[in-house]
Amino acid sequence: MDDARYLSVAGVHVNFGGLVALSDLSFDMRRGQIKGLIGPNGAGKSTLFNVIAGLLRPARGGVTFRGQAIEGLPPHRRIGLGMARTFQNLQIFKDLSVLENVMVGCHSRFGSGILAAVLRTRSQRQEEERIRAIAMQRLEQLGLQHKATARASELSFGEAKILEIARALAADPTLLLLDEPVAGVPHAEVRHVMEVIREINRSGVGILLVEHNMGFVMNLCDDIVVLNYGRKIADGSAQSVRHDPQVLQAYLGE
Ligand code: ADP
Ligand code: MG
Repeated sequence: MDDARYLSVAGVHVNFGGLVALSDLSFDMRRGQIKGLIGPNGAGKSTLFNVIAGLLRPARGGVTFRGQAIEGLPPHRRIGLGMARTFQNLQIFKDLSVLENVMVGCHSRFGSGILAAVLRTRSQRQEEERIRAIAMQRLEQLGLQHKATARASELSFGEAKILEIARALAADPTLLLLDEPVAGVPHAEVRHVMEVIREINRSGVGILLVEHNMGFVMNLCDDIVVLNYGRKIADGSAQSVRHDPQVLQAYLGE
């Protein structure tokens, strides 16, 4: 397998009616790196995540992951290959405990579904215990174990965003897609989320990071792709992107 093209987006085109959301977009991501994906609102970042995760079929172009064309694979099969994601808008189960929220993520890895919890045969109970232990490990890794039994609704917003990351990690991915992990997170908690993402990356997980907060992206990412109106306008190191005239123009014009 080609480590330089761990994830490869090639010629992806998406339109919604007359609106072109992604236009002939191509870029590669190396194994284990943190790659940033930035651009003004409406640039097509979340749309690209939906294409990569299998929620949206591009009109043209495709995605390869670990050397395999994943076109046509449903989202759960992509999770099985080692890809997991979070959503721009928080998607946690507020009435479940923090631990249970992460256990849901383990289910998407093992595919045992909610039936297991209802039928509760002996082997299924053992399976549930195993999943509980894995979920707890993930909470410990992200420093949220002390909140395991709390209801998800009791978390601060920053903690809830970390919970969502923990749930994605429960699927044991090698590539994590994070859609705006600090959007709406109070300043005081942003640094903590950054540390959490660094720690995940140190454990060997590659990260594709969409974020509106420029400082956050510049700080974390090895290199950065910039989108504007569905087109790639820059792709390179944080340093080179920061001074790119087209990038400055796109952000100033916002
Ligand atoms: P970003 O995440 O960069 O802010 P999006 O990918 O959400 O941008 O959106 C890109 C463009 O596509 C926007 O103009 C948005 O309004 C449009 N769009 C996104 N999803 C849909 C949809 N399901 N139907 C119609 N238009 C959409
Ligand atoms: Mg978005």
